[in-house]
Amino acid sequence: MSQDQSAHLLCHRCGRELTPGRGEWYIVRIEAFADPSPPILDEELARGGAGISKRIDELLAKMSDMTQRELMDQIYRRLTMHLCVTCYNDWIENPAGDDPKVKK
Ligand SMILES: [Zn+2]
Repeated sequence: MSQDQSAHLLCHRCGRELTPGRGEWYIVRIEAFADPSPPILDEELARGGAGISKRIDELLAKMSDMTQRELMDQIYRRLTMHLCVTCYNDWIENPAGDDPKVKK
């Protein structure tokens, strides 16, 4: 990487400029995969009932409205973030964040 490309690195959280070579920031890589287990078949599907082709049609109709990118995003996502030391220290203590819906 040339100095030029890395000259404008910004912290993804606070926007602070990050200077390469000073050991003052982190690269954080996140990979997220959808549950890779085989799907649980409900009773109707397991019996091979007449509803299957209807269900497949519904699924295909739903998918036809989505772009390839949207479909991929449902299965796999990878992101890279740059974080300054301060933001990194906050984030690494609680990487999943707090769910505001869960009352403590
Ligand atoms: Zn920051």
